[in-house]
Amino acid sequence: MGTRVEPSPPLRRIDFIAERLGILGGTFDPVHTAHLVAAVNVRHALSLDRILLVVANAPWQKSARRITPAADRLAVVEAAVAGTEGVEASAIEIDRGGESFTADTLEQLTAEDPDRELFLVVGADVAADLHTWRRPDVVARLATLAVVSRGGRGPVDIGPPWRAEHVAIPALDISSSDLRARAADGRPLDHLVPLPAIARIRQLGLYSGDT
Ligand code: ATP
Ligand code: MG
Repeated sequence: MGTRVEPSPPLRRIDFIAERLGILGGTFDPVHTAHLVAAVNVRHALSLDRILLVVANAPWQKSARRITPAADRLAVVEAAVAGTEGVEASAIEIDRGGESFTADTLEQLTAEDPDRELFLVVGADVAADLHTWRRPDVVARLATLAVVSRGGRGPVDIGPPWRAEHVAIPALDISSSDLRARAADGRPLDHLVPLPAIARIRQLGLYSGDT
């Protein structure tokens, strides 16, 4: 037929729903069960689509001690989250390189998808120190905090400009520092760190007594 068919107008995305994305940043040296318990519970409590465990490349707060190489820490986080619905490992800070600042990460995640809503998951210990972070105003503008209880530290008093939700999680007295100490004197990490992550740690020869 000789008649020209006009292209149809672009489809309107009437079913569009902005993503609710959680970010749990850390050194994860190594990742442990409490990190996963925090992620799973925040995702449930705040109805988030996904939570990213964002592995710091060079954590500026922890430059005093020797940090396990970022690629190894990431590999262990990947093994730890495998099979946990809605929880993923993210290499965004490793790919960016250099020192890892949460403000930069939030800006990058916003630029990728300006519609998404960001939730920054922090333990109550970290929440108390937010004012010491690089560009805290940017962090406060781009994300709502999801503060999880840690070691009996309950809701932290956080006023404007911060927006904060508190999520109570079972108190788990686990820290990466303690795990490194356990590994150094040969005590088991099993179940404090998920078993597939333990297997990866062994494979990579990490935390084998020299830290
Ligand atoms: P380190 O002892 O090396 O500081 P960590 O166990 O504190 O390690 P990080 O990688 O520093 O782990 O923490 C990442 C995030 O997870 C932080 O916001 C921290 O508050 C939170 N977090 C870590 N352990 C727990 C826990 N047991 N309960 C609740 N939140 C936790
Ligand atoms: Mg810590």
